[in-house]
Amino acid sequence: MREWIVAGNWKMHNTVAESTALAKAIKEGAVDIKDGSVILAPPFTSLHGVSEILKGSDLLLAAQNMHYEDKGAFTGEVSAPMLKDIGCSYVIIGHSERRKYFQEQNADVNLKIKKALSSELTPIMCVGETDEEREKGITQEIVGRQVDHGLKGVSRIENIVIAYEPVWAIGTGKVATPAQAQDVHAFIRKILNESYGKAANGIRILYGGSVTKDNIGDLIAMGDIDGALVGGASLKADGFLGIIREISGKK
Ligand code: PEP
Repeated sequence: MREWIVAGNWKMHNTVAESTALAKAIKEGAVDIKDGSVILAPPFTSLHGVSEILKGSDLLLAAQNMHYEDKGAFTGEVSAPMLKDIGCSYVIIGHSERRKYFQEQNADVNLKIKKALSSELTPIMCVGETDEEREKGITQEIVGRQVDHGLKGVSRIENIVIAYEPVWAIGTGKVATPAQAQDVHAFIRKILNESYGKAANGIRILYGGSVTKDNIGDLIAMGDIDGALVGGASLKADGFLGIIREISGKK
């Protein structure tokens, strides 16, 4: 059985004071929830403050991105050892906003995935098609390539989480139907199965894209949806806790 994950991606929101207040409210609200993992991904500037708040709780800390080198002349970048040092155990890799606005390619994603794994950070690798790609009927081709290229040369996938986030659903209020999401999740598991055999059955595949406490119930009922990567709805404790409660106990 796969344990569920709910991860909140705060993107470029929240000062340190706002982040720590939000983390505290989520920590207090999630205190009795033990059957899965709750992960918070604040902006870099808030990682330390949120890390301090999460100490002694079961909540986990993630970064939203990282560089694939340990150190060097890479102005503005942050490395895996730095993230470990500050208390991260997860890192989001290849979010569609990084692909779209910062020209991140599958090859960059692949280098970051390998670095995260060798640094004992669990990568949450994001994949997903655009509206246009879905309309052209090439969703599987796009997502399949992102998975294959992102994991190229990775021999073990036990410590990887995948997030299927259709680009057209992110921040748009246009959530994928449970059937649409399940189709792609099952496809991802099938291709992982072809490359990694039975290990693929243990991989958590999260859905992301306009998830709220009102729509997550039907999505999480799908066999291959193991949790959610949440953007907008993770910025308010009530909404995020509502999603966690909908998922908790159902998986
Ligand atoms: C995201 O950014 O990963 C995301 C899923 O955003 P939203 O929930 O706002 O669509």
